[in-house]
Amino acid sequence: MPSAVPHQTKLLFATPECAPLVKTGGLGDVSAALPEALKEQGVDVRVLLPGYTAVLDSLGDAAEIARIEVLGHDIRLLEGKLPNGVPLWVAACPALYSRGGGPYQADDGGDWDDNALRFGALSKLAAVLGSDSSPLAWRPDIVHCNDWPTALIPVYLREIEGRRAATVVTIHNLAFQGIFEKAQVARIGLPAWAYGVDALEFYGRISMLKGGLVYADAITTVSPTHAKEICTDQYGMGLQDSLRARSGALTGILNGVDYDEWDPRVDRNLTQNYDADQLQVKAQLKREFLGRMGLNIAPEVPLGGVISRLAQQKGIELMFESLPQVLEWRELGLVVLGSGEPRYEEFFSTLQADFPGRVVFRRGYDDPLSHWIEATSDFFLMPSLYEPCGLNQMYSLRYGTVPIVRKTGGLADSVEHYNPDTGVGTGIVFNDFNSEALEWALNTALDLYAAPTHWLRMVRNGMRRDFSWQHQGGMYVELYEKLVRSGPPAIPAEVG
Ligand code: ADP
Repeated sequence: MPSAVPHQTKLLFATPECAPLVKTGGLGDVSAALPEALKEQGVDVRVLLPGYTAVLDSLGDAAEIARIEVLGHDIRLLEGKLPNGVPLWVAACPALYSRGGGPYQADDGGDWDDNALRFGALSKLAAVLGSDSSPLAWRPDIVHCNDWPTALIPVYLREIEGRRAATVVTIHNLAFQGIFEKAQVARIGLPAWAYGVDALEFYGRISMLKGGLVYADAITTVSPTHAKEICTDQYGMGLQDSLRARSGALTGILNGVDYDEWDPRVDRNLTQNYDADQLQVKAQLKREFLGRMGLNIAPEVPLGGVISRLAQQKGIELMFESLPQVLEWRELGLVVLGSGEPRYEEFFSTLQADFPGRVVFRRGYDDPLSHWIEATSDFFLMPSLYEPCGLNQMYSLRYGTVPIVRKTGGLADSVEHYNPDTGVGTGIVFNDFNSEALEWALNTALDLYAAPTHWLRMVRNGMRRDFSWQHQGGMYVELYEKLVRSGPPAIPAEVG
């Protein structure tokens, strides 16, 4: 892993959310953990966030370091710090960002109708800060853009004269693309060429994410396999052609795991802690858990775990036939935590009724319970249809809980199928998206469980894997260094 960079890379990390100040999903966690890891590795990083009410409240008496007019709005740039100590720049503009609701939506769940302007302004501001037009002495080498709300940064940067920062666009969730009617974007000051089919045009409207993909210097997504998958018609969500055209600039970097929260050696939710040399503690925790959950299986009978949003993406339908079959014929217990689509909730409720004392379904979201399931299960099921990165399979590895995963996205990149001939591998990996394949995987896991030498080897192989942010952040540092080495990005003579 590289340590400090030869010249200290200056990075502006632009994001619409950052935990714990504002978070609607995984992007919020990444935006807190990745900059922290980058700072530890010597990157001079600043996080840029919109001045939502909660963000301004967290700042206290922050210093105003610049005042910049962007798209007809006067933005005050305030400087503070994130709770993790990373320098924070906040774009304060009450008309755009200080209101109730969430970052993208009002309390009634509808998108803010000025989102194009809100995130256009944020992107334009970041572009100014990343160019010679910035009023500040501190100039980033790289502007790192995250998802559609910051994807216009590379587009605006093309229009600013003089030197400019290189750009990285990271796709955390391809399902959200920042699609707006052309009329709506008239007020965000895009140049005429931006409306072209080679630029932002997307089926008669414009897509902010597409703009970022066309003009970024580098594109990343959250796993190497997902980076390949999103170039295909099956996974590309309509953007596959744009992604294929940029495949040379596209890479995948797995998200990291927060091992302060998710490591059985320090997990504060558990009554005892353990590591790879204390698996008897995992067995004791399992006994305690079986009693607490009303699971009526002997402690040596294998226990499977599921923690999931119950959505189509998660491959729950593959369990409809395979789980009753395997429960009918083999000895195992199952604990399921999750909520979502009624058909999946009904399936697990029925399974619980059909196999009393062997299957427990807890409907809802329960963080402490999810830690217990990771710690006490023997295997963990994650048969996703697609999975950009996925976290639970990485948690499972650390907890000595064998992941059973479908070979897609981050699951394919973080779990290696166990080979009994070589003793190499960390889990059970299956390929086809059908119930037979999942049933095969479950039976393979149960057969290996009955052969403790293999099982223990697989468990310990998994517990040694390191997906920490320190490790994964190093890959971003390499990418930034590569961009810095290739010199100031050229401004094309002609664009569009
Ligand atoms: P996704 O973001 O697609 O839902 P991930 O595996 O990347 O899937 O992350 C899901 C996170 O949410 C994990 O930390 C998981 O433990 C947690 N989670 C999901 N459902 C529940 C639940 N019902 N209760 C507690 N935690 C949950």
